[in-house]
Amino acid sequence: ETQQETLSFQTEVKQLLHLMIHSLYSNKEIFLRELISNASDACDKLRFQALKDDSLLSDDGDLAVTVEFDKDAGTVTINDNGIGMNRDDVIANLGTIAKSGTAEFLQNLTGDERKDSQLIGQFGVGFYSSFIVAQGVDVYTRKAGEPVENGVHWHSGGEGEFTLADIEKPERGTRIVLHLKPEETEFADGWRLRNLIRKYSDHISMPVRMLKENFEADEDGNTEEKAPEWETVNSATALWTRPKSEISDEEYQELYHHISHDFGDALTWSHNKVEGKLDYTSLLYIPKKAPFDMWNRERVRGLKLYVQRVFIMDDVEQFLPMYLRFTKGIVDSNDLPLNVSREILQSNDAIDSMRSALTKRVLDMLAKLAKKDPEGYQQFWDEFGQVLKEGPAEDPSNNEKIAKLLRFATTHTGEANQNQSLDDYIGRMKEGQDKIYYVAADSHQTAKNSPHLEVFRKKGIEVLLMSDRIDEWLMGYLREFDGKQFVDIARGDLDLGEIESEEDKEAEKKANDEHKPLLERLKTLLESEVEEVRMTNRLVDSPACIVVGQNDMGAQMRRIMEAAGQ
Ligand code: ADP
Ligand code: MG
Repeated sequence: ETQQETLSFQTEVKQLLHLMIHSLYSNKEIFLRELISNASDACDKLRFQALKDDSLLSDDGDLAVTVEFDKDAGTVTINDNGIGMNRDDVIANLGTIAKSGTAEFLQNLTGDERKDSQLIGQFGVGFYSSFIVAQGVDVYTRKAGEPVENGVHWHSGGEGEFTLADIEKPERGTRIVLHLKPEETEFADGWRLRNLIRKYSDHISMPVRMLKENFEADEDGNTEEKAPEWETVNSATALWTRPKSEISDEEYQELYHHISHDFGDALTWSHNKVEGKLDYTSLLYIPKKAPFDMWNRERVRGLKLYVQRVFIMDDVEQFLPMYLRFTKGIVDSNDLPLNVSREILQSNDAIDSMRSALTKRVLDMLAKLAKKDPEGYQQFWDEFGQVLKEGPAEDPSNNEKIAKLLRFATTHTGEANQNQSLDDYIGRMKEGQDKIYYVAADSHQTAKNSPHLEVFRKKGIEVLLMSDRIDEWLMGYLREFDGKQFVDIARGDLDLGEIESEEDKEAEKKANDEHKPLLERLKTLLESEVEEVRMTNRLVDSPACIVVGQNDMGAQMRRIMEAAGQ
């Protein structure tokens, strides 16, 4: 080993380490799943790179993860012969958190939030979870294809800093040694480790091996150790290739944790094998919680792509439209070539048909959830509804399906919660009503107190109350639902159709005639501000209100444009 160099963790890492040790203490066993998950990813990455350059495998093509322990020393060791890391990789991966926005997020956590494992888990606890059980961690690693002397030894006690040293490492890949805290030595135990591997890492398609523990007593009662022999502890088959009926919910959830790097559970999933013109398997998940950086445009997203069980790449964006970007999952194709590149994915007929099929799958999965588990669906809506609202603009062909999934606040409940569907609304429509009425404003409070609602209240007609930033834009793309037109009640001539009696219409006309001189005078006075001044029966209590022209930009939209400097 050459001389050591001491480096400091990025501030965010220090904070996260501290929070994690305290918030995840009751889930401490997950460290093993995280390290095996990383080891398996490293093997997947190498296998993929070796498709192009098989010299990377040199004479060791049997990719696997091994787990060892030493009771006396109080250590657990996780080893893989995957892609490995060089010095720069180590510094970037085991010294920083790359996600932007992390610092602000951590800074703004309140006292209670700091103990919330789900919140802290949003970072994908990953490698740093080692420090929940270890007082010291050694990482020995060498990148595939690099010379033996380019090995790196990383060590940290999980406080503020870590050391780096150059080493010779004959075997490629990564070996991680956890020096357990005195109170955590229970993990240095074969039975315990085997159980944890079966519980958390059974779905990992790489074999996870441990040494057989076979002691045999001879006649004199002396126990004699046999030559060490490895055995595979997990099933080591890609979970999604197994029949659905044989996969438990827990197994689906564990695969979700592995591919999503999400500490929390999935809300629902859909697992499908497609045969015919295209041949692929998809397993799509909807998370329970939105990641803290969902609104960050640069955030990576997309599905994991496999070709014939071989991992190809992460974050393939082509499989789903933007408005379904909360979806996690895998696609395993039997049609695409193993050497498929991102460029090929961008213009490929097979990908296009898969994209429209996968889009339908996600929409159907959500429709099913809404039907079977309205509470679960509400949870989805509260987390991701704002994203789904981008749908009608981006994907007009699925307009009706998306509209069915939307949830609104309405005058029926009077609550700010968006929990009413358009079907609910239609079920409550008045005799003779053939339109869906809505009002859009800056806040729920403003929408709810809009003077435009007065006549609707009087007649007992329900109105959708819209106050999300995106709503007015959304309504620009939602023209009708179930044959019923959407009508902005703050716009143009309000035609209440059949609901309005002939007398009402007559009275409005008469009032306009009678007060013609007053209206003319008001119009002259307000000349530069308004286009027209009219008597209306829209109002019950308020003396006057402003109406936007049928084709003019709404107030909310105008503000968005102004903010954008237009
Ligand atoms: P994540 O797995 O979500 O990326 P982790 O904290 O688990 O986050 O790991 C951080 C990074 O460190 C990984 O993305 C990977 O690049 C690298 N890494 C961790 N473990 C290994 C390993 N066994 N072999 C190679 N690289 C690894
Ligand atoms: Mg990880």
